[in-house]
Amino acid sequence: AAEEGFDLEDVEGAIEAAGHGPLPVLAVVGRPNVGKSTLVNRIIGRREAVVEDKPGVTRDRVTYEAEWAGRRFKVVDTGGWEQDVLGIDASVAAQAEYAIEAADAVVFVVDAKVGATDTDEAVVRLLRKAGKPVVLCANKVDGPSGEADASYLWSLGLGEPHPVSALHGRGTGDMLDKVLEALPEAPAQRFGAALGGPRRIALIGRPNVGKSSLLNKVAGEERVVVNELAGTTRDPVDEIIELGGKTWKFVDTAGIRKRVHLQQGADYYASLRTAAAVEKAEVAVVLIDGSESISVQDQRIVTMAVEAGRALVLAYNKWDTLDEERRYYLEREIETELGQVAWAPRVNVSALTGRHMEKLVPAIETALAGWETRVPTGRLNAFLGELVAAHPHPVRGGKQPRILFGTQAGTKPPRFVLFASGFIEAGYRRFIERRLREEFGFEGTPIHISVRVRE
Ligand code: GDP
Ligand code: GDP
Repeated sequence: AAEEGFDLEDVEGAIEAAGHGPLPVLAVVGRPNVGKSTLVNRIIGRREAVVEDKPGVTRDRVTYEAEWAGRRFKVVDTGGWEQDVLGIDASVAAQAEYAIEAADAVVFVVDAKVGATDTDEAVVRLLRKAGKPVVLCANKVDGPSGEADASYLWSLGLGEPHPVSALHGRGTGDMLDKVLEALPEAPAQRFGAALGGPRRIALIGRPNVGKSSLLNKVAGEERVVVNELAGTTRDPVDEIIELGGKTWKFVDTAGIRKRVHLQQGADYYASLRTAAAVEKAEVAVVLIDGSESISVQDQRIVTMAVEAGRALVLAYNKWDTLDEERRYYLEREIETELGQVAWAPRVNVSALTGRHMEKLVPAIETALAGWETRVPTGRLNAFLGELVAAHPHPVRGGKQPRILFGTQAGTKPPRFVLFASGFIEAGYRRFIERRLREEFGFEGTPIHISVRVRE
């Protein structure tokens, strides 16, 4: 590294920054108008822009990456709340429940000027039931005179209320220090393989693509009696299913089965539910209705899984209804609408007839294997050396930026750090990604490439 003009500390720092696996998740919950979105914006600051550009894919964000005191985590924003037919208590509870479920720690925001309301008490009950660490944020304490309001919130029984002004930033630093104490380093306990437990699958897709039909089909007769399965802790919303001779955990299946039909805010709930399931899973199986045109919503769901860094399988359902013409057009749509995830294993299934159900597990296993692939540094650099020699970066302004060396900083998904002598254009980065995939596989997994440029 030194002879290439990088100092060792920079290199180590870059590798460490890129090397993290799945990040721990912080959920911000509370009633409408208490200041959740304001607080989330303050927490994520300007770091939101870290997300890579994925042209042609609309996002509707529920989770953001954040960093405080050198630690990175994800924030689930539940500020997209809208009051709906369920009534205020039920709505707040429903959104909080999903967010809490996916979280490693929770910030519960209360409006200190208003004090604790019945709705707040309802959320407290949910928090107690979930047993996750909670940091109580007494918001809208814009100055010292508001501190007394905050202290009334001891009555909620959640420990010390932290007086904060999300609007002005007062007290947010101290509160975030507490959040870091509450938040585990990594969401490791949610990842079964590390503990020898079942792998975790999120079965996601827009309404009516056939998620519950598929779940019923695969659960079928083979459903495991959970109590008999030694050493598995099971969330009530998760389902343990034996498939292809192995045990799997389908996460958040309650969200699939429990049909909460909402009028307003339904899209937001669906996004929150999908985000929650993805956060809890190692691999996302995105179910797509092959009988209908691939929609923006399908793309969004795929993007969520990719941006969360999960392994990905695409399952085209309702294959029993596809005639030759539709099959032809579907292939064209897949190329144009989902070309950016052409690396994902694909299965054409029918939840109705059971067609190709046996192909689901091999596809999932392929994706998980890609997700966990580690390329030894020697092999990677031999590959990069040949690549750069055969296909140099275009000359820009009389200079030719070069990739000098690289390393894989982490897995789940694979993360690479490349060290370069100058700015590497997006097109060349994509070229490198393509060649990495050709060389090393990475089927079913997003890969992250960050580039460090020599000063
Ligand atoms: P959410 O519905 O919980 O996401 O709440 P918002 O973040 O949208 O905030 C609701 C309103 O409260 C907005 O008008 C904010 O400007 C205001 N607000 C949020 N935080 C503070 C604060 O710390 N102090 C004051 N005075 N107002 C705040
Ligand atoms: P979900 O909203 O994604 O859980 O979708 P459902 O499982 O409720 O399915 C929606 C509708 O599609 C139901 O009427 C199902 O019977 C139907 N359906 C699901 N899978 C298939 C399939 O493979 N073939 C056919 N023909 N219909 C299906």
